[in-house]
Amino acid sequence: MPHRHHPDTLLAHAGCTPDPITGSLILPPVLTSTYERAADGTYPGGFIYARTGNPTRAALEETLSALEGGDAPCETVTFGSGMAAVHAVLQSLPNGSHVILPNDVYYGVRALLGQVFEGTLSFTSVEMSDLAALDAALTPQTRLVWAETPSNPMLHLTDLAALAQWCAEKGVWLAVDGTWTTPLLQRPLDLGADVVVHSLTKYMAGHSDILGGSATVRAGHPLGAKLRAVQHLAGPVLDPFSCWLTLRGLRTLHVRLARQCETAAHVAAFLSHHPRVSRVHYPGLLSHPAHTLAVRQMAGFGGMLSFEVAGSRAQALGVAASTRVLRQATSLGGTESLIEHRASVEGILTRAPETLLRVSIGLEHAEDLMADLNQALLAQFS
Ligand SMILES: *Cc1c(COP(=O)(O)O)cnc(C)c1O
Repeated sequence: MPHRHHPDTLLAHAGCTPDPITGSLILPPVLTSTYERAADGTYPGGFIYARTGNPTRAALEETLSALEGGDAPCETVTFGSGMAAVHAVLQSLPNGSHVILPNDVYYGVRALLGQVFEGTLSFTSVEMSDLAALDAALTPQTRLVWAETPSNPMLHLTDLAALAQWCAEKGVWLAVDGTWTTPLLQRPLDLGADVVVHSLTKYMAGHSDILGGSATVRAGHPLGAKLRAVQHLAGPVLDPFSCWLTLRGLRTLHVRLARQCETAAHVAAFLSHHPRVSRVHYPGLLSHPAHTLAVRQMAGFGGMLSFEVAGSRAQALGVAASTRVLRQATSLGGTESLIEHRASVEGILTRAPETLLRVSIGLEHAEDLMADLNQALLAQFS
């Protein structure tokens, strides 16, 4: 058996495809809309027009495929945002298809189905960890189950292998939103999923400076050609500079995420003992209802957690407003820790508790984050 490199090694070299003209070790962002033909009419680099192909984008898509697929060949199609990738997957379904969603799906997915696909696709929301609820939601038109584990913002877990088996038995595709875990913590295709979607905006690019998305399938999966057609023909493409920044971010994903997991575990333990906190949702805690599943399914417990303030909505909002190290903003996966009150971000569609705050752990020192959360909590109850 040839030695297969670990993902860390792959990532450390992401985008290091020397430029054939200058020898530049790092592939430069290729900022062009079109490519010149040779005298014989052929395209020497194989690229014709930027909507259909770009070298920086190709390097990113290859890296994501290698990360997600392990040994099995995969195809990744990138898009201008995570939601554009979600949209492309949903657009690939026949008109009239029915989709099953988790109760606490990323709110944009439910809003997209309800507003953009209104009249084209129908959907039912269920408690995804309950296969009996899935049985009840299944219709002859069901084509897709959408899963997100850990979920947002409640950190509920879904057993992906069991879900994939259910989907295979019913002849339904399984899509997994892998944004919160990245392929380093969870590889849904290995567990039987048909497609994995990422918001590259979050951990993958990792510096809160771009918007991007991707969808990955096993090579030859019928969804692959559909996704590529949406990219080429509808044109919701990821621009070359964002591809380049994502490749640059990916080179440190393994070290960033390892540190974020470690710090999140400290902060979750600290909050779970805090008198002003009623509940902490983090799969690494022994008290998490699906902790054993987390140990089996995930290679690390992630950098995301949420907690419920032992008080009112106003006190929860007050905590979010008075942290100084944690910044009050939506999004996640950057180097700076973020805190937010999901119920007010999500508006009327929300299922988030009114006292719940979601935290994305960044790269600050754990003690500074704990001291900051402590002063913000105590200030609300003085
Ligand atoms: C952010 C996010 C999305 C949407 O991605 P964008 O890049 O913002 O379009 C989808 N799913 C999850 C879980 C997310 O966190």
